[in-house]
Amino acid sequence: MAGIYIHIPFCKKLCHYCDFYHVISREDNSEYISALIKEAEIRQDYLLSDTVGTIYLGGGTPSVFTVKELDAVLDHLKQLFVIEPVSEITVELNPDDITLDYLKCLRAIGINRISLGVQSWREEDLRLMNRRHTVMQAYDAIENSNKAGFENISVDLMYGIPGMGIDNWASNLDKTLSFDIKHLSAYHLTVEPGTIFDKMKGKGLLEEIDEEESTAEFNLLIEKTESAGFVHYEISNFGKPGYFSIHNTNYLKQVPYMGLGPSAHSFNGYSRQWNIRDLKKYIKSLAKGKPLFEKEELDLRTRFNEYIMTSLRTMWGIDLEYVERVFEKEGYDYVINLSGKFINYGLMKQVDGNLILTNQGKLISDNIISEFMMPE
Ligand code: SF4
Repeated sequence: MAGIYIHIPFCKKLCHYCDFYHVISREDNSEYISALIKEAEIRQDYLLSDTVGTIYLGGGTPSVFTVKELDAVLDHLKQLFVIEPVSEITVELNPDDITLDYLKCLRAIGINRISLGVQSWREEDLRLMNRRHTVMQAYDAIENSNKAGFENISVDLMYGIPGMGIDNWASNLDKTLSFDIKHLSAYHLTVEPGTIFDKMKGKGLLEEIDEEESTAEFNLLIEKTESAGFVHYEISNFGKPGYFSIHNTNYLKQVPYMGLGPSAHSFNGYSRQWNIRDLKKYIKSLAKGKPLFEKEELDLRTRFNEYIMTSLRTMWGIDLEYVERVFEKEGYDYVINLSGKFINYGLMKQVDGNLILTNQGKLISDNIISEFMMPE
C-alpha cells in the first residue's frame, strides 16, 4: 500500500520560522494544477502496481485551493491510480481560510482527515511567528471541523517559542486537549538558516529558549498527552489509539510514496528523488513533459542509516529481527554493540526484540541517531 503526497506551495503570508518551499499565493491556480496532473500522468508507473492507501495534501497552504480545485486533483489521481476504498486522505488547513461550508464540501469530495495549523493559543505567539490567523479563528476552525462531521482531526502546535514559558505552554496544551481531536503534532521551534527568525536572531531580536526550558516543555507535553489518552508514537506525534497518521507512519516504515509538486520527495524502496525547488521551472519542465528532479540510488548502508533514523523516532523502535534479515549479521552486530552503552545510560531499552528510546533518550534523539549512523 503506497502513498501520494501533493505539495501545494502557496502561502498568503510567510511565517517567520518557515523553511519549507513556499511562494506567495496567486489568484489563478490553473497552471499549477495542470502541471501537477501532468506530473502524475508522466509518473503513473512510479508506484508500480501498488495500490494507494493514503493521499496527503500538504504545503505551503492547501486551503488556498478551492474545493473544486482540490477535487480536480483528487479526481485525476483516482483515474490514474488504484486508490483503496478505505484510504486516508488528509489535507492541511490554515484556520483563517476555512468556513463550515468549505469543510462540509471537503468531506463531500472524500477528504476524511484534516490537519489544522493552530500553533499556539496566544495572540502574541501568533504575531511573533507571523501567522495569519487569530486565536478565535483557530477555535472556530476546530469547532466547525467537528460540526462538518470530521472525526479524524489533527492539530499542530509549537513549543519552545521565545517568551511563551512553561505556564503558557501548559495552558496551550490544556486548551488543545479540551477539544474533540484525535491527533496532535507538536514541534519544538528551531531557528533554521535563512528564515526571518534567523535574521532576527542575528540582530539580537530573538533569543532561543535554553535547554532546561526545552526539556521541561517536552516532558510536560508527554505527561499531558498521556493523561489525555494519546499515545506518543513518534517524537513529535501523538494519537488516540486507531488514529495515528497512516501516511506519516508509512514514511517511517519505509513504505513507498510518490511526491508531486516542486520540492516534493519520492521513495520507491531503492531510490529517493526530489523535485526541483522552483515553481516556475517546475511548471515549465512539465509543460515540456520532462519533470526536473534529482535522484539518489540507495545502497545498503544508506538504507540501513535511513531505517535507523526513522525507526528510532517511533514507539516501535529498531526491529532486531528486521535488521538481521535485511542488513544481515554485520548490521545486526553493529546495532547490538552500539546499543549497549545507551541501555546502560537509561536512554534506550529492549522490548520484545525491539530497541526503543526511553523518554530521557527521546530528549536527545538526534544525538543518539547520529551515533548510530554507519560510516562509509
Ligand atoms: S503557512 Fe506553512 S508553509 Fe506557509 S509560511 Fe507558514 S509554516 Fe511555511
